Amino acid sequence: MSLLSVIVPCFNEEENVEPFYEELLKNDTFFREKGVDIEILYVDDGSQDKTAEVVKKLRKKDERVHLLSFSRNFGKEAAIYAGLEHSQGDWLVLMDADLQDPPSLLPEMFSWLEQGYDSVATRRVSRKGEPPIRSLFARLFYKLMKKISKTEIMDGARDYRLMTRQMADAVISMQEYNRFTKGIFGWVGFRTKWMEYENVERARGETKWSFWKLFLYSLDGITAFSTVPLMIAAVAGVLFCLLAFVMIIFIIVRKLIFGDPVSGWPSLVCIMLFLSGVQFFCTGILGQYLAKTYMEVKRRPIYLIKEKI
Ligand code: UDP
Ligand code: MG
Repeated sequence: MSLLSVIVPCFNEEENVEPFYEELLKNDTFFREKGVDIEILYVDDGSQDKTAEVVKKLRKKDERVHLLSFSRNFGKEAAIYAGLEHSQGDWLVLMDADLQDPPSLLPEMFSWLEQGYDSVATRRVSRKGEPPIRSLFARLFYKLMKKISKTEIMDGARDYRLMTRQMADAVISMQEYNRFTKGIFGWVGFRTKWMEYENVERARGETKWSFWKLFLYSLDGITAFSTVPLMIAAVAGVLFCLLAFVMIIFIIVRKLIFGDPVSGWPSLVCIMLFLSGVQFFCTGILGQYLAKTYMEVKRRPIYLIKEKI
């Protein structure tokens, strides 16, 4: 028998743990026929509700259920990493607890692995049921990333992904603290099959991602997979030097020909304000990268475990 590990990051998902389990096990016969065992690893990302208790209750019924509890909320990225590190499967699949990653796709995904792919990833082609503002910014983010990053980051990509042990090990070997899984999967490479499906709305409970959290996360993505903003800062500096040079020549020539004394501090104030704005902006970009570097060099653990069953 070979083993398929299902990794489920959970943050306050008490109402979803059981329905997810039921839904997943609808594939039980399919996998049994293929000679594949399933293990389900719920990674409790510091939930405040009864998520851990519900998982423990499930475990009493079914030995294939496992639980990993964090000491506090470390974020979904940390939960994914811990899940990959702690599962034994020959294949691994990442799935949300809220049934937005339909388990019914698993048999088809599995068949792609059998055809020689290393990984089967999913992307949603629609964003129905999502606030329009959120969709708009998400689209902009992916467009921007396409331009400024060499790593392929697919628009609408979900974290729902089935992969071989080999690919999971490659991801585990990337021990960076600022994790942006969508980029990491692109970076490690391997043959990936993309499957598309219509967006499914969350079954129960509420999304854990506020607009602000997503915004900060997108900055993580940019700094982790592109250094183009740093270059923009440098290029802006050069451009402004050139502009200043042209202005100097212009003013000298005007003075020599027309004897026109340079007047007007309003224009001067505008230029100063504009340039100091640009300077702050560039320092801000530098600061972002410096801050990320600071967090990396501290080499703090990505997560801390409170309980493992
Ligand atoms: N999640 C987590 N830690 C967090 C936030 C979310 O483990 O800090 C889990 C959450 O329980 C869910 C998955 O990540 O299983 C996706 O979260 P959510 O459904 O809230 O995000 P959305 O689908 O709205 O993008
Ligand atoms: Mg969700």
